[in-house]
Amino acid sequence: MNGSGRWFAEQAWLGYRAEDVLIEVEDGRIKAVTAGSAAPAGVVRLTGWTIPGFANVHSHAFQHHLRGTVESGGADFWEWRKQMYRIADSWDVADYLKFAMGVFREMLEAGITAVGEFHYLHVYGNGLGEALLGAARQVGIRITLLDACYLRGGMDGRPLEGVQQTFSDGDADKWTARMAELKDGEGVRIGAAIHRRAEVEECLAVEGCTPTQLLEREGILGPDLTAVHAIHVNDNDVSLLGRNRVSICACTTTERDLGDRVGPIRSLVDAGSVLCVGSDSNAVIDPFEEARGVELDQRRATGRRVLHQAEELFRAATVDGMRALGWDAGALRPGMLADFVTIGQRPPVLWRQLDLGYLMFCCSARDVTNVVVGGKTVVSK
Ligand SMILES: [Zn+2]
Repeated sequence: MNGSGRWFAEQAWLGYRAEDVLIEVEDGRIKAVTAGSAAPAGVVRLTGWTIPGFANVHSHAFQHHLRGTVESGGADFWEWRKQMYRIADSWDVADYLKFAMGVFREMLEAGITAVGEFHYLHVYGNGLGEALLGAARQVGIRITLLDACYLRGGMDGRPLEGVQQTFSDGDADKWTARMAELKDGEGVRIGAAIHRRAEVEECLAVEGCTPTQLLEREGILGPDLTAVHAIHVNDNDVSLLGRNRVSICACTTTERDLGDRVGPIRSLVDAGSVLCVGSDSNAVIDPFEEARGVELDQRRATGRRVLHQAEELFRAATVDGMRALGWDAGALRPGMLADFVTIGQRPPVLWRQLDLGYLMFCCSARDVTNVVVGGKTVVSK
């Protein structure tokens, strides 16, 4: 990471559509962006539409392994989880490094320049977490490693069972001590994760409140928190999350796969939450599909159209997701990290002017032709 250079984009999104844009990068950050420029000698030309890099806010690299094998056979989330647990403790450090490199490479080729890895495979302490950091470093993607504190099997405090035991550090102090050994670095940020699959009824029975109310009671709600999925929330939860500016990460391709319902995303955003997106199980890695899915799933759930404008979906997939992961990237302007992606002008976009509606609803990961992370070219097709 942290390269320097000059790129010349035929068309770029600078908050508006601009042409002939010179992007100057120094030491990994954007130094200047000049629209309507002439192309100086020696620049790298970007043919097509250049946009900021995408943020994939919620991922579990290892679940990519389940791709195509859990799509048939029926049953529900709990059956899916059984199959996921079967592969959760089957990795050694070298295997996991190699596997994660393949997953992160696929993300880069889809235009994702930063990934939030929600990590709970602790069978070798930090071994598999370090493998994720190493894999990210080797392929050149930014990573925010969100290490999960995973201590109980349910809200009633029952112990973890089977493979779940390998997720746990035993107690919160041991988790904190292990976390302290993981360090931020170039292209690397470390964050904390709390794991729960919304067992709302169980929470009501044990704690007398919803999971969201419990988080409020414990003082955890705030703009630094990202709530993943946020599907099973009531009106009170929506206003608590919104009022506290909690980010909401929708993972539409995974939520569809698991048979999850459609969350009240429009209401959450109206209440003040910031939307972002993630590939979660990595059954699909396509930030365009993830973002438009937020809108399209709600259309079917509500019978209404255009709950989110294309620009809102674009922000969710770029600048707002980057903020949730702790990176000042996701917009092409001076001072920001130099992450940008080019959508090639293959048919059918050949004749088009850059337009966010077309970009978010009609393009896919396969249209990405060039990716720069921190001023270094990592994908060039
Ligand atoms: Zn997840």
